[in-house]
Amino acid sequence: MSELPYPYEAPASQALFDRAATVTPGGVNSPVRAFRAVGGTPRFMVSGSGPYLTDADGREYVDLVCSWGPMILGHSHPEVIAAVQDAVARGTSFGTPGEGEVALAEEMVARIAPLEQVRLVSSGTEATMSAIRLARGFTRRAKVVKFAGCYHGHVDSLLAAAGSGVATFALPDTPGVTGAQAGDTIVLPYNDLDAVRAAFAAHPDEIACVITEASPGNMGVVPPLPGFNQGLRDLCRDNGALYVSDEVMTGFRTSRAGWYGVDGVEPDLMTFGKVMGGGFPAAAFGGRADVMAHLAPAGPVYQAGTLSGNPVATAAGLAQLRLLDDAAYAKVNAVSQQIQAMVSEALTKEGVAHTLQNASNMFSVFFTDRPVRDYDDARAQESYRFTAFFHAMLAHGVYLPPSSFESWFVSTAHDEQALQRIADALPAAARAAAEATA
Ligand code: PLP
Repeated sequence: MSELPYPYEAPASQALFDRAATVTPGGVNSPVRAFRAVGGTPRFMVSGSGPYLTDADGREYVDLVCSWGPMILGHSHPEVIAAVQDAVARGTSFGTPGEGEVALAEEMVARIAPLEQVRLVSSGTEATMSAIRLARGFTRRAKVVKFAGCYHGHVDSLLAAAGSGVATFALPDTPGVTGAQAGDTIVLPYNDLDAVRAAFAAHPDEIACVITEASPGNMGVVPPLPGFNQGLRDLCRDNGALYVSDEVMTGFRTSRAGWYGVDGVEPDLMTFGKVMGGGFPAAAFGGRADVMAHLAPAGPVYQAGTLSGNPVATAAGLAQLRLLDDAAYAKVNAVSQQIQAMVSEALTKEGVAHTLQNASNMFSVFFTDRPVRDYDDARAQESYRFTAFFHAMLAHGVYLPPSSFESWFVSTAHDEQALQRIADALPAAARAAAEATA
């Protein structure tokens, strides 16, 4: 490791991690941050500016995580910061309706035709949980279909991904979720319409909804095969179930209208988070007005939140969305394509088998030479190569998602200088991946 630009250790981060571990389980507030999949010391970040993050040891990294998607304009964008400062100066929470939440809802509805009404919440998990409750309340049915490898937040009934290949009732993935909570969840292999057809045939009039990531990014980036989302749409309509498209990750990232703007398939309900909050806890679910009319106080399905529609979060989200015009998406897409090409070239040069998959500007690298169409394919990759690649990139000042099952995220702020730093880091990382052993 002598050729590394700086010592690999991160003493200040390690000291914070040790401190954190005494007061917080595992030292983090969301598991992936602990680096368990790749090992080593999680970097405690102290500031972010444009495409860069700076850690507690004073080292700067090109950020290819972007807070797991939200920071599509880069860190500390001056106009977003100004909107936040303006909102904060007027107070941080009122517990009453306010104009900011109306304006944010209007901006979202204006961008996405099937989104007739939205309800704001504070996290993607809340959004999917509430959408499922609403789907069940609307259809008066219990069962939910989800796909293996799709993540919809830590909702009890959705924390289940059963064994591969066959349609099966879900077993809980985690202690704390009861068999009853998972028992109404049917987990199917992704990209397999026959499995969905079979589930509807086996459970007539029982399935409330099919929930799917609009284009999955939580098993790495595995886009829907042509016709898959439309097939889900049609099967749901034919069987009296709702089609719920989870756009927490793709929403306002993959285009100005999210993945709906890419494939045009019309969901009954949609969920959002990440980009729409501008780096603050804001999320939403919405869709058909006749379905949303079943939500309290308009209808009987209960849902609420003390900080829902928070004025600071909505100001940040609105400022970010208003800056996201066609030129911004063209920029993010171009940056993404450049990085993908650079990564592929470096790995090819070292003879490392890999497959790059993208969904608009979201992308990930699978260490396999075969296309990845579902969770089983994703798990078949040589993840140990990613571990070596990740650590070499980190040592050279590039911060990747610390797992091979995640999307990489870029922003409008990733400029030539940031790209050059990535280019400089790649040869050693590709070599590390080539030399890695299982
Ligand atoms: N749905 C999808 C597709 C996600 O990617 C995530 C989080 O990554 C969630 C839901 C949950 O969102 P949150 O982490 O805000 O609860």
